Amino acid sequence: MGTPLNVLLVEDSPDDAELLELELLRGGFVPVVRRVETGEEMRAALWSDMTWDVVLSDYHLPTFSADAALATLQDSGRDLPFIIMSGVVRAEDAVNLLKRGAHDFLDKASLARLVPAIEREIRDASERAKRREAEERVRVLSLAIEQSPVSVVITDRDGVIGYVNPKFIKTTGYPATESLGRPIDFIHRRDAGEGTYRAMWETLRKGQEWRGEFCNQRRDGQLFWEYATVSPLEDSSGSITNFVAVKEDITARRSYEERLLRQANFDDLTGLPNRLLMLDRLEQGIAVAHRRDALTALLYIDLDRFKNVNDSLGHAAGDSLLKEAARRLNECVREGDTLARMGGDEFVIILPGVDDGVAIQKVADRVVETFVPPFVISGQDHFVTTSIGISLFPSDGTDGQVLLRNAELSMYKAKEQGRGRYHFFTRELNERMQERLKLESQLRGAAGRGELYLDYQPLYDIQAGSVVGMESLVRWNRSPEQRLQPGSFIPLAEEVGLIGEIGDWVVATACRQAVDLFNGRRKDLRVAVNVSPRQLQGPAFGDWVRLKLDETGLAPEQLELEITESVVMDGSPETGMTLRKLCDLGVRLSIDDFGTGYSSLGYLQRYPFDTLKIDRSFVSGAISDPNAARLVETIVTMAHGLGLETVAEGVETAEQLDFLRNCGCDLVQGFLLGRPMPAEDLARRLG
Ligand code: C2E
Ligand code: CA
Ligand code: CA
Repeated sequence: MGTPLNVLLVEDSPDDAELLELELLRGGFVPVVRRVETGEEMRAALWSDMTWDVVLSDYHLPTFSADAALATLQDSGRDLPFIIMSGVVRAEDAVNLLKRGAHDFLDKASLARLVPAIEREIRDASERAKRREAEERVRVLSLAIEQSPVSVVITDRDGVIGYVNPKFIKTTGYPATESLGRPIDFIHRRDAGEGTYRAMWETLRKGQEWRGEFCNQRRDGQLFWEYATVSPLEDSSGSITNFVAVKEDITARRSYEERLLRQANFDDLTGLPNRLLMLDRLEQGIAVAHRRDALTALLYIDLDRFKNVNDSLGHAAGDSLLKEAARRLNECVREGDTLARMGGDEFVIILPGVDDGVAIQKVADRVVETFVPPFVISGQDHFVTTSIGISLFPSDGTDGQVLLRNAELSMYKAKEQGRGRYHFFTRELNERMQERLKLESQLRGAAGRGELYLDYQPLYDIQAGSVVGMESLVRWNRSPEQRLQPGSFIPLAEEVGLIGEIGDWVVATACRQAVDLFNGRRKDLRVAVNVSPRQLQGPAFGDWVRLKLDETGLAPEQLELEITESVVMDGSPETGMTLRKLCDLGVRLSIDDFGTGYSSLGYLQRYPFDTLKIDRSFVSGAISDPNAARLVETIVTMAHGLGLETVAEGVETAEQLDFLRNCGCDLVQGFLLGRPMPAEDLARRLG
C-alpha cells in the first residue's frame, strides 16, 4: 500500500497533470490530484475542507502564475510545501520565488527528483508544524510565567539567573537588570542556615526537585519569607540545563506561625521564656557544659510572700509586681544566660557553662540584692524577698528534669532557713525529703493517738511583774525518744493540710487545761493559742471555738487567738468572716510576730485586734541597733494610739526588759521570765 497524497496542482495542461500523477504512483504514492488553472479555483480548493499535502505549480499559465499561486497559498494561511515545476526559467526568477517562500524548483522535463522532493518537503512541513505548536506552547507558558502571581526565576545549570518574572521584580524590588547574571540565592539572608543551601544543592545536583522555606531580604532591606520549589530542567540526553525556582511569599503565614511559636514558648505577662523553652535551653546548657567540661547552674527563684500581695491587693497589683520582678531579675543575668518564668511567682535562671561556684554565687547574691528596694504598688511600698535553690550539672543531676527538681527542693530549704537566701542542693537534701514524707505519714492522726501535748509559756505584766496569762505551745512526742518542737512539724502540717486536725485539738486542749488552771484564780487570766492562717479560711473554725468555749465554760475574753501578720494582708472574705465571728464571740485577737511581714499598722484597723506581739527579732535587735530600738518605740506608741495592748516576746536579758519597760510596753514573755513548761509547772507560777 502506497502513501496517500493529496495534491493541489496548478496546471493548465491535463497531459502534464496525467504524467505527474503517473510519476507519483510510481514513486509509491496513492495520489489524489486536484488541478486548478485560476486564482479563484485555487482559493476555492484551499478554503475547502480538503487536507492538502503539497502544492505543485506550473511556472507559466495563461491566466495565472506560480508567483500568484504562491501569494494565494500564503494568503490562505496554510503552510504547505510549494513546489514549482517548469520548463526554462531564468535563474533570477527562480531564486526570487524561493526567497518568497517557494520550497523547491523542478524541471518538468526530468521528474526524477519529484518524489524525493515531495517526501522531503512533507517531512519538513510536519516539523514546521510541530515547531509552530511548540512555539505556541512556549508563548502561552511564558505569558503564564510573566503574569504569574508567584515569583519565577530561571537559572542556567550553575545557578546563574537568566530570567526573572515581573512578580519576582515586584516582590524583591530588584529590577531584572540587577538580578540577571547573579546567583539564584542572592536575595537569601546569609545567616539563615547554610545547611539549607547545601541540602538544596545536593538535591538539585541529583536531578531532584527541592522544596523549602527561605528567609529573604528585599532590596530595601526588609525581610520576607518564601516557600520555594526549585526544579532542574533536563535536555533530551538527561543532563541538567537549567533550574527553575517557583517561589511563594509566605511571610504572612510565617509570622502567624511565629506568633504561635511565641505563645508556646514565652510567658504572656513578662515576655520571658516559659517552662517549655527553659527546659530546652537547659538541655542546651547541659550540652555546652558537657563539651567544655564546665558546670551549668540552675537557680530556682521563688518570691517570698508574693501570695499576700496578690490576695490582698488584687491580681492587677500582683501582675505589676511580677513584671517588675522580671525586670529586676533580667538585670542580674548576662547575655547567654536564660531567665524564664515557671509560672506563678517562680522564676528560673540558667547559667550555662559556668566555671565555678563563685560565679554562681555572684549571680545569686545579685538576685537577693535586687529585691532589697521595695516594690511600689499603688503608691505603697512592698517588701518582697526571694528564696533561691541552686542545682548544678553534673554533680546534682545529669538531666534537666532532675536538675530542676533538685533546684526546687533547695529553694524550699532556703525558705526554711529564712527568706531572702539561697541554698545549694546536696544529696543530703534528698534524704531530708524522704524524711519529710515519713514525718507526714506519722503526723497524720498524731492528735488522736495522744502524741501531742501543750507546754505553756507565762506572760508577765511588765509594770506589776505578775503573771497575766500564758501562751500554749504545741509539742509532739513523735516517739518515746523523739520530742518535736512546733517548728519541725507545724509548717509541714500547714502544707499538707493537717493543721486543721492539730489546731482543733490545740484549741480544745488549751480551753480545757486553762479552765483547770484558772479555776479559783483571778478572772482576768488568759490563755493565748496560736492559729495558722489556714485554719481561718474555713467557716468551721469559728463554730469549733464556740463549741469548745461552751463545753469547757471558759470565758471568751480569757481566750486569745494569736494570728500572724500574713492573715492581715490576706484580704480574703472567708478569713474576714471567721475573724468577725470570733470577735462577736468575745474572743480576744492578737497579731503575732509583728514586724516580720510588711503590713503597716494601718492594716491592723481592718480587723478587731486587741493585742500586738512585737517579734523577738526586734527585741533582741533593740539593744545593739538604734534603728531597731526606735522601731520598737514607734510600734508601741502607735499600737497604743490604735488602742492595742503590746506584748514583747523573746525577752532574754534584763537589759531588754528595762528597755521595753521604758518604751511603755505592756506585757513581756521570754526565757528570762519563763520557758515554755508543762501545765502543772505553770500552775505553780500562778500561785
Ligand atoms: P511563736 O508563736 O512566736 O511562739 C513563741 C516561740 O518563741 C516559741 O517557740 C517559744 O519557745 C519561743 N520563745 C519564747 N521565749 C523565747 C525567748 O526568750 N527566746 C527565744 N529564742 N525563743 C523564745 P516554739 O514553742 O518552738 O514555737 C514556735 C512557733 O510554733 C510559734 O511561734 C508558733 O508560731 C508555732 N506554734 C506553736 N504552737 C502552735 C499551735 O498550737 N498552733 C499553731 N498553729 N502554731 C503553733
Ligand atoms: Ca505565738
Ligand atoms: Ca510570736
